[in-house]
Amino acid sequence: QAHLRIMETTDLHVHVWPYDYYADEATDTLGVARTAALIEAVRAEAGNSILLDNGDFIQGNPMGDYIAYERGMAEGQAHPIVTAMNQIGVEAGTLGNHEFNYGLDFLKNSLAGAGFPLVCANIAVTEGASPAEDETLLPPYIVLDRELVDGAGETHPIRLGIIGFVPPQVMQWDRKHLEGNVSARDIVVAANAWVPKLRDEGVDLVIALCHSGIGAATHSEGMENAAIPLAAVEGIDVILPGHAHLVFPGPDFDGVEGVDNQVGTISGKPAVMAGFWGSHMGLIDLLLERQGDGWTIVSHQ
Ligand code: MN
Ligand code: MG
Repeated sequence: QAHLRIMETTDLHVHVWPYDYYADEATDTLGVARTAALIEAVRAEAGNSILLDNGDFIQGNPMGDYIAYERGMAEGQAHPIVTAMNQIGVEAGTLGNHEFNYGLDFLKNSLAGAGFPLVCANIAVTEGASPAEDETLLPPYIVLDRELVDGAGETHPIRLGIIGFVPPQVMQWDRKHLEGNVSARDIVVAANAWVPKLRDEGVDLVIALCHSGIGAATHSEGMENAAIPLAAVEGIDVILPGHAHLVFPGPDFDGVEGVDNQVGTISGKPAVMAGFWGSHMGLIDLLLERQGDGWTIVSHQ
């Protein structure tokens, strides 16, 4: 048996420092610089950990607009929030809807400085006959080969599959940047197409980076907040929702159909949503058991 600690940041929205640029004053409730201290401590407690980001990072405060509209984001320049994410050791990420606010060239130049892979399964440059045949803007998923240290101090390989999704509404919200350049697939439709391919890569666990909130329990085509039906997709083991700027588990989700707000599951899968602007760090601790040459989840917190 071995533990794997999954840490999540989401909806950072360019909040590098604990500073409210609108009010022009310091504040101690936001900023990835503060989250960083938490991450460092929580990471140090764990033998095995991974830090993932869930999108909406390059837009959302005056510094983001300054970089986009005044300083610019030429090829080879660093985006401050991406630099911060590199600094805290983000290991994989996905796109939020706000990544498209300044256009695709700005996005491309911003992501070029990321020291971690980014994935998104439901934005296509060219749609294929079926979603799994799309030429996607970013890789739909990535496989991370890691080693886990077990309770006896021995190391074993683990293959982690990381897949990402963004609300298809980006096509309306950022039509002027996206129309004619990319198209969006429904989140669950894209998941049903790509998750089996990811499982075919021989991964032990699939973690869904879901830049989408916890909405209706049943799927409807094009839904914005698709975390519950996405979590129900066979082959997804862990889901990290975002986008809604809420905390799950938490008081906003008492009595919501399709989630267990006590044990922290969505459609029965371990899940966490980590607020916004660095207000929280999401944490899921998995206890895994090696069976044959793979791992299964024994319990989670
Ligand atoms: Mn957001
Ligand atoms: Mg969002």
